[in-house]
Amino acid sequence: METCVICDQEQDSKLYEKYNICTSCADIMEDVMGEYFVRTIWHSEPKEMSGYFKYLGNTTKYISDYKKLTQKSLNHIKNVSRRTADAIENTDTPSKQRYFERMQEVLDWLGKCPEFYHYYFKDYYICPTCGASIFEKYSKDEVGDWLVVSCSDCGAAIKKYFSPKIV
Ligand SMILES: [Zn+2]
Ligand SMILES: [Zn+2]
Repeated sequence: METCVICDQEQDSKLYEKYNICTSCADIMEDVMGEYFVRTIWHSEPKEMSGYFKYLGNTTKYISDYKKLTQKSLNHIKNVSRRTADAIENTDTPSKQRYFERMQEVLDWLGKCPEFYHYYFKDYYICPTCGASIFEKYSKDEVGDWLVVSCSDCGAAIKKYFSPKIV
């Protein structure tokens, strides 16, 4: 039986093909990554390109989009870590306490394994259906308890997150 690389407990199911991460840690990982994903693409301005820049853009755009998705990862870990430490100190609710303690474990692991960001986002920076860049064609909708990130060109859903908790 495999064990979870983050918490050392038994691996029950495998959400990420390349990594042994248990369901409880993976749920928190999705919260951390969901916030990062939405913040990163939200803050990027869609840009119009023309002529030579358009040509250049077509060949280099995807590489730089992919970089954009991962370059702020260390900052993100630091920011969420700080908020998590505050939350652990300021909460009296045991279930919340456990949530934030596990979040801290997930963040510690991410800090040691930043390549996980590359693995995680490899399929999300371009639309799988029409090939548009997620930084230019992006829409975000709340559907019940889900936040759905989709392509504004063709409407394909790129990724959905269960009620992301902004810590
Ligand atoms: Zn785990
Ligand atoms: Zn599309």
